Amino acid sequence: MFKKYRQKRDFKKTSEPKGKKTKKKSKKLIFVVQEHQASHLHWDFRLEMDGVLKSWAVPKGVPQKPGIKRLAVQTEDHPLKYADFQGEIPQGEYGAGQVIIWDKGSYKLLNKEKDLIDFTLKGKKLRGNYLLFQPQSFKANNWLIFKKNDKK
Ligand code: MN
Repeated sequence: MFKKYRQKRDFKKTSEPKGKKTKKKSKKLIFVVQEHQASHLHWDFRLEMDGVLKSWAVPKGVPQKPGIKRLAVQTEDHPLKYADFQGEIPQGEYGAGQVIIWDKGSYKLLNKEKDLIDFTLKGKKLRGNYLLFQPQSFKANNWLIFKKNDKK
């Protein structure tokens, strides 16, 4: 299940969690955004789905306001435990550099299709209705993430 995740990492060297499927206490779906100071600074956006963290690297960060669309490049599924990870990935290892949890919380899935995920985030920095969307003209792993207008 986490084959790609494990292939990229040497768990004797990095303190990142091993790729194992774990059970959670709460039934609430979680999300996390990790600021990752790798060779290029980016933010990793992760949504719990089917027992894993679906993951996207967002070079410019997840927007906090509507009207800004950001590129989100889908990466390998991460284990749920990764949502608690922060620390230093050693030099020479995959993703070397500092990881800090930028925001974390629960989310509600509103709609999911092949090229679209509609959800509401309940974090500290990110709150409200968001969309991950893959335009037809985009390459396989490239998506957009943006906040929808809050109309109540
Ligand atoms: Mn990363």
